[in-house]
Amino acid sequence: MSDLADLTLRQFADGRRRGDFTSEEVTRAVLERIARVEPTVQAYLRVDAEAALEAARRADRAAPAGDRPALRGAPIALKDNLCTRGVPTTCASRILEGFVPPYDAAVVERLRAAGAVFVGKTNLDEFAMGSSTENSAFGATRNPWDPSTIPGGSSGGSAAAVAAGECLAALGSDTGGSIRQPAACCGIAGLKPTYGRVSRYGLVAFASSLDQIGPMARTVEDCAILLEAIAGHDPRDSTSVPGAVPPYAARLGDGRLEGLTVGIVREFFAAGLDAEIECAVREAVRTLEERGARVREVSLPHGKHSVAVYYILATAEASSNLARYDGVKYGFRAAGARDLIDQYRRSRSEGFGPEVRRRIMLGTYALSSGYYDAYYRKAQQVRTLILNDFTAAFREVDLLAGPTAPTAAFRIGEKSDDPLQMYLSDIFTISVNLAGVPGLSLPCGFTAAGLPIGLQLIGPAFGEETLLRAGHAYQLATDWHTRRPPLVMATGGAT
Ligand code: GLN
Repeated sequence: MSDLADLTLRQFADGRRRGDFTSEEVTRAVLERIARVEPTVQAYLRVDAEAALEAARRADRAAPAGDRPALRGAPIALKDNLCTRGVPTTCASRILEGFVPPYDAAVVERLRAAGAVFVGKTNLDEFAMGSSTENSAFGATRNPWDPSTIPGGSSGGSAAAVAAGECLAALGSDTGGSIRQPAACCGIAGLKPTYGRVSRYGLVAFASSLDQIGPMARTVEDCAILLEAIAGHDPRDSTSVPGAVPPYAARLGDGRLEGLTVGIVREFFAAGLDAEIECAVREAVRTLEERGARVREVSLPHGKHSVAVYYILATAEASSNLARYDGVKYGFRAAGARDLIDQYRRSRSEGFGPEVRRRIMLGTYALSSGYYDAYYRKAQQVRTLILNDFTAAFREVDLLAGPTAPTAAFRIGEKSDDPLQMYLSDIFTISVNLAGVPGLSLPCGFTAAGLPIGLQLIGPAFGEETLLRAGHAYQLATDWHTRRPPLVMATGGAT
């Protein structure tokens, strides 16, 4: 291990139990890494160094045993659309300027109770709308593997922070791919749980029927540890599902996949998929086969409509959810308004960035009387067809495998003037949210240019155990997840 900032959660928990290091030492290493790489990466909107060190010391004083000892004292980053009591939560938007939540999101509460140390709040596309983290009102985050490229989005800050050793793991949110696509771009693991698996209480809503919070970490095993801590029923989110949370981390298995059938989605290997990505993903599927899995081809015939369906439903829900930002109740209020309507108009025009305004307009249009049936209702119907495709596929196979994104990270600025091109970054992830099923992205290689490639595994509803077991088996057989970005080395990580 070159540096304590590069530990996995598992290594952290084991090492701390053995007394190899304290939480305070690891937290200091993370803060030192932040000081060194943050001028380039810009993953954080806010770093709470003093509070983190204080929490680390508290964790060190606490008895090592506890209900979730794995996370006690572990430095974790939070995407800045998760409410944190007493700590500003911006959604990377000017409109939330000055907003300090009086409560913690359910996932933050749970991690706090587990003894996690919060390092800070990470950058995102404004209100989680985007695939590159360029839509942040506070500047873009850069990919630690190549700072001239995007880290993916919208959870690009969390992904870059994990990849660069600026935390041991992080939480993100995924409405159409925002955990998995940045995980793929930054060479880490990211899991979008089944809709209802994790409480959305305290997650600033983007598209409520699609949003889900999930773990982003260096390994699949670490995703299992984090998921176990944040999952479970919460009466404050009426879509959260009752029932026990499986001990995901204890059920990762021994790396053998006999009895598992993996489906290759024919449509995911069509035109538009970069050849290097296709090659790496096919190789990854062969590795799963070597571990004992059977592989067969399946079809998701309605998947081709998923981007269109998503951009009607997600924008419709967003236009409704974002109506609450009126310059009165939260944060930013424009100056010089003539009357109330003018105040709404000015506050919203000045407070929201261009992508958010575009989506509010699209969504409002799709929901307007006269167009509702043609757009919104039709999109809901096609959403059901997409879900039915998944249900049919999961009668034949245990999980699906394919690419996470059609290309590796693109250059900053390359797609910012072309929203449609940007929207296509999520072509392989969006249908998973529409169907409400879980999806895991994990590193499966690098392009010739040295950029990470993501393998996506998709499971049936509440099939997280199977997904994690397959992903873990893949990581036992490969070492892509152990690579660190050149930036981390070049800036003097002690070896
Ligand atoms: N990139 C997609 C969008 O722009 C998905 C974002 C997300 O998952 N939050 O809406």
